[in-house]
Amino acid sequence: MRYQILRREPGFPRAYKCSRLAGVPNAPTAARPSSPALAKAGHALRDVFGFGEFRPGQAAVISAVLERRDTLAVMPTGGGKSVCYQVPALLSDGLTLVVSPLLALMKDQVDALRAMGVPAAAINSTVPVDEQRQVLADAAEDRLRLLYVAPERFGAGGFMAALRGLPISLLAIDEAHCISQWGHDFRPSYRDLGDVRGRIGSPPIVALTATADPRVRDDIIARLGLREPVVHVAGFDRPNLVFEVARVSSLKEKFEAISTQLRALKDESAIVYCGTRKRVEEVTDSLQRAGIKCARYHAGMPDEDRKRIQDAFARDSLRVIVATNAFGMGIDKPDVRAVVHHDMPDSLESYYQEAGRAGRDGEPATCTLYYAARDRSLREFFIEMAHPEASRVVDVYRRLVAFNGERVHIRELMDQEDEPGINAAVQSLVDSGLAARRGYMVAALRLDGEASIDTAGLEEHREHSFRKLDAMENYARSRTCLRARILDYFGDSGHELACGNCGPCRASVGGPAAEHAEAEDGLFHELRATRKALAERDGVPPFVVFSDATLRDMARKQPRNRMEMLNVSGVGQVKFERYGEPFLATLKAVARPARPERTVLYAREPAATDGAKLTPSLRETLSLYNDGIRDIPTMARARGFSTATIVNHLSQLIMAGAITTLDGLVSAETIALVAKATSGKPIEKLTPLKEQLGDRVSFEELHLIRVYRAR
Ligand code: ADP
Ligand code: MG
Repeated sequence: MRYQILRREPGFPRAYKCSRLAGVPNAPTAARPSSPALAKAGHALRDVFGFGEFRPGQAAVISAVLERRDTLAVMPTGGGKSVCYQVPALLSDGLTLVVSPLLALMKDQVDALRAMGVPAAAINSTVPVDEQRQVLADAAEDRLRLLYVAPERFGAGGFMAALRGLPISLLAIDEAHCISQWGHDFRPSYRDLGDVRGRIGSPPIVALTATADPRVRDDIIARLGLREPVVHVAGFDRPNLVFEVARVSSLKEKFEAISTQLRALKDESAIVYCGTRKRVEEVTDSLQRAGIKCARYHAGMPDEDRKRIQDAFARDSLRVIVATNAFGMGIDKPDVRAVVHHDMPDSLESYYQEAGRAGRDGEPATCTLYYAARDRSLREFFIEMAHPEASRVVDVYRRLVAFNGERVHIRELMDQEDEPGINAAVQSLVDSGLAARRGYMVAALRLDGEASIDTAGLEEHREHSFRKLDAMENYARSRTCLRARILDYFGDSGHELACGNCGPCRASVGGPAAEHAEAEDGLFHELRATRKALAERDGVPPFVVFSDATLRDMARKQPRNRMEMLNVSGVGQVKFERYGEPFLATLKAVARPARPERTVLYAREPAATDGAKLTPSLRETLSLYNDGIRDIPTMARARGFSTATIVNHLSQLIMAGAITTLDGLVSAETIALVAKATSGKPIEKLTPLKEQLGDRVSFEELHLIRVYRAR
């Protein structure tokens, strides 16, 4: 296909030209910030793009670009980064050069611009040579506003020669994180962009990315040589998305909760992300067996199948896709109502990018992360694969050197079957020039190169990956506003502390999450009692046994065996040998049956496992309790029952395990008072106790305490 190069139409784009910038495309002189310039930008946005207002961050970025400042714009996927250079391109003389790594998207953008009457073209390997020539001729004759180029082009002498002498007013680097080795998408073709500016007349640069990591940002600034850049981080909030984390303790439970969620969606669209291809297969099969129509999608499938599934999803003939992260690039289906994560991703960047595919149409959509404490280990395994410890790289090198430069199969370098990270280890030896590799065969190029292995660099990358994983896990475990966590992570400041519209925010007004938090609290106190007993037995202070933080983690994770116990923060081998079993015994005796810990799916329902046993009337009372209404007379009024009936309901709910704490029902003072009066023994008769304590305690309270102790 041959692009028709549009000529400037009368009145376009001169109509939007910012006079201060006119005629100085390559001049280093800075125009002053001016709201007239921004007003013109607003007109262009409306008239050319048809958008009534700027999205968050766009006006600020455009102002900075119009001031000819170097600018780094960090905005989420779908946030509207393109407009940030397209509008300035319309307002300034000269050509805006846009570097983008995604050839397909480049074509889409050019087509979209042309459809709006903006003269734009692209040059990359998919464009025939004669068309490239035509495009460059058009650029030379000032018939183009925007020229999209693939980064590799700058390495081509002919292309650089053609650019020379062109009035380039702006260099826009899209997907700028590709320049950073710390980014998730490093591309060697981006590496040499740093010196491009100097070779094309030193225009200002606007770099755009959705990647938040401060380290990547610093790297972008350094590698592109941005001069006193204006850095804008904006637009990360997606108010229509409801974020929630559902904590579960087994795969089975995870699967059941996900099926329930998908069923509730009826025939709305959803994406279920899984951590591995194998998991995609398993989850798809199980969902299909459970009667939920869905299809799998991962990079191991033939292209035609993938395309067919993607199209079916786009056309709504398929509502649910179970996929790895291979599904997403270029998907912009507007009405995905739920993005479910079966497995925790490796970073909040990945999570937000995937979750962000929900609700592009601005309508409410839900992003649910299912999390079990041991999900971390899958991610750790991947880090082990990608970033083995530096000492292991050195080991692999030593093993390779032992073959004296001979070519060996990579298996020979493993010290155990399927050693994870062997490929990455060999690759880093190749990268540092110590080894050569072809297929599975590896040979040492130097035998004395151990000192040149960049162990510090390797460790740094590894650490970096773990830190990103930690941030992800902190999100999964957060008891406070998830939206605030995301925005803080991405450096998008100025948000509310609590959004009121995510799992923890909704739960903080009552509901299952609060109940579960309290259940954990109860467990924590039991664990403390065990600790106290052990500390007394051994004559040591309690913290020597385990710290509070460890007990909290234990209450949260509820380990059931040695392996799981070792996963609790603060429980090492030796500590486990010494103290592990009594804590396991306590957990076994006290812990509730596992169930989702925090989920809006069950917002008005009692916890699923107990719900079945409860009568509708009991469920009604429990629902009030879960809504945070704990005052017995108020509950009685709300339900139209006597206080005695409510006390009876509460007793049954305590016995059924649906209510696991007296908090809110009986004050701590009263509990302490009763504990003192009974020396902690079970309460048999209420009347003598009531006589003894008088008005300080009511019959109802005594009754609830008795039931609670007896459960
Ligand atoms: P990004 O590159 O940040 O992922 P795009 O530039 O592709 O995002 O924009 C995403 C979508 O938002 C596009 O469909 C674009 O037309 C639209 N968009 C951009 N700016 C605005 C705006 N100010 N108002 C409405 N829609 C906008
Ligand atoms: Mg983009």
